[in-house]
Order: sequence, then C-alpha cells, then structure tokens
Amino acid sequence: MPQPRICVIGSLNMDLVVQAPTLPAPGQTVLGGPFATFPGGKGANQAVAAARAGADVHMVGAVGDDGYGEALRAGLARERIEHAKVLRRDGVSSGVALIAVAPDGQNTIIVAPGANASLMVEEIDRASGIIAEADALLLQLEVPLPVIARAANHARQASTLVILNPAPAQPLPREMLAAADFVVPNETEVAALTGVLPVDWSSAEVAVQRLVEAGARSVLVTLGSRGALLWHNGQAHQQPAFNVRALDATAAGDAFLGAFAVALAEGQPAAEAARWGAAAGALAATVTGAQPSLPSREKILSLLASPPG
Ligand code: ADP
Repeated sequence: MPQPRICVIGSLNMDLVVQAPTLPAPGQTVLGGPFATFPGGKGANQAVAAARAGADVHMVGAVGDDGYGEALRAGLARERIEHAKVLRRDGVSSGVALIAVAPDGQNTIIVAPGANASLMVEEIDRASGIIAEADALLLQLEVPLPVIARAANHARQASTLVILNPAPAQPLPREMLAAADFVVPNETEVAALTGVLPVDWSSAEVAVQRLVEAGARSVLVTLGSRGALLWHNGQAHQQPAFNVRALDATAAGDAFLGAFAVALAEGQPAAEAARWGAAAGALAATVTGAQPSLPSREKILSLLASPPG
C-alpha cells in the first residue's frame, strides 16, 4: 500500500521547561532546578505522531529567525517530515511555551505564539497543491482562525479529508465546524464548546449531540483513560481505552490524532481509525514527555493485535 499523505497546518513551539521547588507568586523570584528545551506545539506534535504512525507528512507553519526556529525545523527533518512550507520569519521570535513545574507536578505555562500568529491566508493559498495532494488535512487552533478556515476550504474543494482538533478551545462559527469531516476535541475542549462536561458515556453522547447541533458532521471525543466516543453516520460508537500502565498522559491526544488521521487516510472505517487513535494514545501515556512518547507504527500495530484487557 502506498504511504498515506497527511498535511498538517499548525503550530511549532519550543517548550522551555524548568523544575522549581515552588511556583513563583506574583513579584517573587524562585531559584529553579534543571532546565531543558523540548520541541512541541500541537501542530508539530501531531505531524510527528502521523509520521511515526506511517504517513508521508507535509507540515505548513511558521517559525522565527532564532535558534529555536532552526531546532524546530531540524526536528521535523529528523522525522522525515517535509517542511519546505515551515516559513522562517525575519525579526520575529519562534513560538515558545514557558513552563515551570513544581515537585507535585503542578505547573504554570505561558505560551508566546510568536511566528505561529503570523501565518497568512495567502500562504495557505500557496500551499493549496500540498493540501490537494494529501489524503487528509489535520488542523488545530494554535494558528489564526482565518488560516484554518481557508485551509479547510482548499481541502474540501480537493476532496481531502479534514480533521479538526479544536484545541485550545475557542468559540467556533458553524461554518468552521461544518467544514471538518471529523471534529476531535478532548473532554475540556468539548465542555468549552458545548457547556457539557463528559463524565461518563451518556454525558459524552449529550456533548456530542450539542456539537452536531452546532454544525459538526462527525465527532470523536477523547475521554482520557476511558477511551473515546465516535459519532459518525448518525451512530454512536464507544471505543474503550487500551489497558496500559499509564505514566504521563502528555501528548496522548496528539498521538491519538496522528494515528486516527493515518488510519482514515489509509481508507480504514472511522471506528477502526478510532481504535488506532486509542492504541496510539494509550502508548503515549506509558512514556513521559510529549514528542518522545509518540509511538511508532510498529508499536501501534502490535497493541492493536494484542488481546483486549
Ligand atoms: P488529551 O491529551 O488531549 O487530553 P486524552 O487525555 O483524552 O487527550 O487522551 C487521548 C486518548 O489517549 C484517549 O482517548 C485514550 O484513548 C488514550 N489515553 C489517554 N490516557 C490513557 C490512559 N491512561 N490509558 C489508556 N489510554 C489512554
């Protein structure tokens, strides 16, 4: 089978993470512990997730003309992700997330979008060929909404599947929800979009129905260690979580989205693609960190083939 082609249009951030004995109060300076940088951003994470799950991935985005930008592009190159359309902005900083982590795991995060906020619709028009050649387009909300809307438009004209991860949550116009073949929020995002927090399968169904009433065509809500609820072709389908020894669920959602997109792009039915997503999300939860935890296709296939339980 030829490799499925996935286009990701979204954010690239460098995460700057410092361990601290306590989180600083306003005006306070705290002497921190170890410091490290990690490539991140929902767009880049999902691009890496899709590449490891077996896709030929094109990423479209923007970085600054700083060392972080170079490191972010180099990180994509290591994953064999095509990044000619990850544009370098002169005089602008790359997107960064400033993260302080306390010993109990509590954190504070400031995201400075930097170059991510500078992506323009004209640049999406210039990438329309890549969108048209892709089997699926993967979108999140860390780049400007007009850019996302334009990308979804190009995809629809070319019959490229559109998967929208509405993260971080923000109010979305009906046309935006309707432009996606699948809207894939997590619990907090679906609660922000619908006012219904899914605490069990039945409240998850209520939340999904609200999203459908708001314009979404198919919905897949990820529910952490409970799994995911798919609404497709007028039917609900419960995808239970795979039973794993979870360590750190960071980027479980990104792993889920990447693998879901790859399976759909390969022509798998939506319910089977949700199973791929759940397998990848579970594997990501067994490893600490974001991109280091995103699983290979081999690992996903092996979990999919394992007996349930
Ligand atoms: P996010 O990272 O966006 O908050 P979730 O926490 O919902 O996303 O995780 C995405 C998916 O990963 C879930 O739908 C589930 O299938 C899988 N997953 C997450 N946490 C676990 C876990 N502890 N055990 C098994 N699977 C998990």
